[in-house]
Amino acid sequence: MSRIQLLSQDVVSKIAAGEVIERPASVVKELVENSIDAGATRIEVELVEGGKKLIRVVDDGIGIGPDDLEKVFLKHATSKIAALEDLEAVNTMGFRGEALASIGAVSIARIASCARDGLQGAEIEVRGGKRSRLKYIGTPEGTRVEVKELFYNVPARRKFLKATPAEMSGVSDVLTKLVLSHPEVHFTFSHNGREVFNLPSAPSLRDRIAVYYGGELAQELLPINSREYGLEVSGYVLPPTHYRLNTRMQFIFLNNRPIRDPGLTRAVNEAYRTLLQPGRYPVVFLLLRIDPAAVDVNVHPAKLEVRFREPARVYAQVLQAIRRALDRFQPGLVPPSDGVSQIAATPTVSSGSSVTAGVPSTGAPGVIPSMPQPARAGGKGVTAKRGQVVQLHSAYIVEEVQGGINIIDQHALHEAMLYHEIRETVQGGALPAQRLLMPELLELSPADFYHLLELRDALERLGLELEEFGRNSIIVRSIPQILKDVDIKELIDGLLEDTRGQPADERMLNHIIEAMACKGAIKSGHRLSPQELSALLERRNENSRLTYCPHGRPTTLFFSLEELDRRFKKTAK
Ligand code: ADP
Ligand code: MG
Repeated sequence: MSRIQLLSQDVVSKIAAGEVIERPASVVKELVENSIDAGATRIEVELVEGGKKLIRVVDDGIGIGPDDLEKVFLKHATSKIAALEDLEAVNTMGFRGEALASIGAVSIARIASCARDGLQGAEIEVRGGKRSRLKYIGTPEGTRVEVKELFYNVPARRKFLKATPAEMSGVSDVLTKLVLSHPEVHFTFSHNGREVFNLPSAPSLRDRIAVYYGGELAQELLPINSREYGLEVSGYVLPPTHYRLNTRMQFIFLNNRPIRDPGLTRAVNEAYRTLLQPGRYPVVFLLLRIDPAAVDVNVHPAKLEVRFREPARVYAQVLQAIRRALDRFQPGLVPPSDGVSQIAATPTVSSGSSVTAGVPSTGAPGVIPSMPQPARAGGKGVTAKRGQVVQLHSAYIVEEVQGGINIIDQHALHEAMLYHEIRETVQGGALPAQRLLMPELLELSPADFYHLLELRDALERLGLELEEFGRNSIIVRSIPQILKDVDIKELIDGLLEDTRGQPADERMLNHIIEAMACKGAIKSGHRLSPQELSALLERRNENSRLTYCPHGRPTTLFFSLEELDRRFKKTAK
């Protein structure tokens, strides 16, 4: 008996479909790209249950005539290229003729269309790859595509679809890039019958950003502009004060397509290096236009990577262009607000052991008040009394202990404490919550909004009560008592960052607790009062598991007297 057999056409097409279409977000991307390719000026996207039940995209583009409508669900059916040479000059978003065939293979889909100036509109349906007869109907100029019950016939894939908010957060990521790269198109988006956004055609990217992210952010945009050789760099960057905790607000479009390029990302972050602490990232909207001869045309449309002929020159130009914009904004700008890591890393210690930080933009005092003068004995340096403890650089605590000294990272230690406290309390029930007298309103991007809703159950167990408000806003009604002094916005940013892409299970809860502990812990750069200092160490003594913070970094380094003696070359003669 032979073991090798040829797969049936049905199986082959379902496997192939899986490569193009993974989830609702990929369907939305393909359909909207088709509408853009069709020259639409208005595109409506409607979803039901995160697109799992229904995805509908309606446009006013050139439409599809009845003859062509018979072909759209066939594999390799495209109007965008005819021969291999055409690939060199392709300027449409699609060209492989695979998307509709793939979508039709794994859903119940229907296209109704009327070509511009066409005499008659028509409609065709496909169920799991089987096409219906063409039906002539009356329908407005343009195209309407409906995709129902995605993966209804591929249970293995259907099973992997996530909860509605998670799918919505993926869809929002896709749509965000499309609306930013095509401000001239009027986009509307609704979910379960509720409008999520309505973005009228905008004359410029700045106007689109203003409507999408709010005027407050748009006001701060710094334009960039540079044209050299075959490359034009334009768009906007935000001053370092608008940093994010991840690179998700860094949009880079090459000839109107979103791209990902590690070299470009490095160039962007490098431009802000002296202005932002590690772990904080700038917000940028970069538009690159390049002579097609200077990039290797990538024949894989879903691939976001490109290959520049002269990458070093491209990166240098982008870096320069951003630096120039930032210089114009405020020459010689120094780190904003707390400037935490800079204080710790490069302090200027004056004689009174006061630490001068970078000039904070918030108007907070630039000079941290002197610490208590350490006792000095015979010029031998710092000698703390046994058990007395000393805080250095507002970040470390030095403690005299039996046989040596401990150097404690105040943030790491407090973080470890909070982590264990929160975990233990949650295991015994819910965390005590504190209702906010002034509920906090957070305006989020659509992606973050849906992601946060997905976390809501877990967050409520932790005492963080959220309520939807308007389109992409959330009201925080209460916070865990344990975190009563925390900056809520920073806490939520941290939560979103730490939990993105994680499955919604117990591990997720752990990530949330980690983020809470991290945001709730005293920062380095915070000067502890003597009472705070002794309270911290006392609580530490009650718990022996605090040697490492939840991220696995040590909270305490111990130096034995022997080691110190050895280092000072005082080993016994
Ligand atoms: P591709 O975009 O790679 O050509 P698709 O499978 O996405 O392949 O679409 C197949 C063809 O169907 C397109 O080449 C185009 O001619 C036609 N088409 C699809 N969507 C639309 C639309 N919204 N408006 C006009 N034509 C469309
Ligand atoms: Mg396409």
